Amino acid sequence: MFRSAVRRVQEYLKPWRNFNEKSDEGHTKYREEIALGSPPWHLVKMKIAETVTFGGSGLDRAAELRGDVQTLKADPRARAVPVWRGKPMLEEDALVRVPLDHSVMQDAATDMVFLGREDGAPVFAADLSAWVPDDLDDASLDAFLDPSEQQHPAYPNGVFAEIRAIMTRLSPRDAELAATAKAVMGWHVTHRFCARCGAESKFAMGGWQRDCAACDGHHFPRTDPVVIMLITHGNSVLVGRSPGWPEGMYSLLAGFIEPGETIEAAVRREVFEEAGVRVGHVTYLASQPWPFPASLMLGCAGDALDTTLNIDPVEIEDAMWVTREDMALAFTGNHPKLLPARKGAIAHFLLEAWLADRLD
Ligand SMILES: [Zn+2]
Repeated sequence: MFRSAVRRVQEYLKPWRNFNEKSDEGHTKYREEIALGSPPWHLVKMKIAETVTFGGSGLDRAAELRGDVQTLKADPRARAVPVWRGKPMLEEDALVRVPLDHSVMQDAATDMVFLGREDGAPVFAADLSAWVPDDLDDASLDAFLDPSEQQHPAYPNGVFAEIRAIMTRLSPRDAELAATAKAVMGWHVTHRFCARCGAESKFAMGGWQRDCAACDGHHFPRTDPVVIMLITHGNSVLVGRSPGWPEGMYSLLAGFIEPGETIEAAVRREVFEEAGVRVGHVTYLASQPWPFPASLMLGCAGDALDTTLNIDPVEIEDAMWVTREDMALAFTGNHPKLLPARKGAIAHFLLEAWLADRLD
């Protein structure tokens, strides 16, 4: 039983090990690659960090065109991604893109968010939130992870689905478009009024701005930085859980960066506040836009100076040190107490990299 679990861990880590083999060859290999004109090793390494879900697909956001949305809308190649109450429309795990004159667009709001260009063609996010499905189940919409899917009669092959439920099945491009659409549209819903004078502001610049006619104020979509940290001591990693999480679910500690604070200071403060552990050296590893509703997760690694836990019950329900072997077993789904981290979230990505010894 144990041997088969170990085999599964080895199988699981295979793609990472291939990267390891490459890195073990070190600088000689790097110099050879440069000489041959193949991608330099630092680009190969960068790719690892960008394989995180929502890690970016190199979308051409074409910010310089946001001032002339009418011309973009008139382009016959223009497409729109229908979004209903934060849920993008999918067809067989791909984001649906419809021509702007498609019949489903009759339920779309006039203001569309300009997401960027694909092969030169403008792509918008269209808000269909005003549409009310016949069989709407309000209760499931309020769930932490909304399992319901809605089908619009004008596009019967597609369904509106919660991003968190489907994010690992999306291509990097579709994930970037969906995350961007959700974050920007969510910002418009919660920022209708000018923060300076209180008057109602207006959608502008393809959705990337709100303008206030009363005081001439301009407002921009916000992104809130959050640190999430892989705190290790020797062979163990620090994980914690919040009240209400499914039994056995633990994840890396995380918290919002405060004004006037550096990333490193936020990591040290949060870990000390939540678990009472002092952290020494901190390094940045990878980031992940997390549009629930507007976070940018900054994945870091930190060295714990000691292992004594002093948990703040207001912040977290529990915290514990988990060995590499136990975490590897949890990732295979065979740990008696610990559930694997949720796929798609950066915690899963960081723990996976740690298990494979690929944090650099
Ligand atoms: Zn104003």
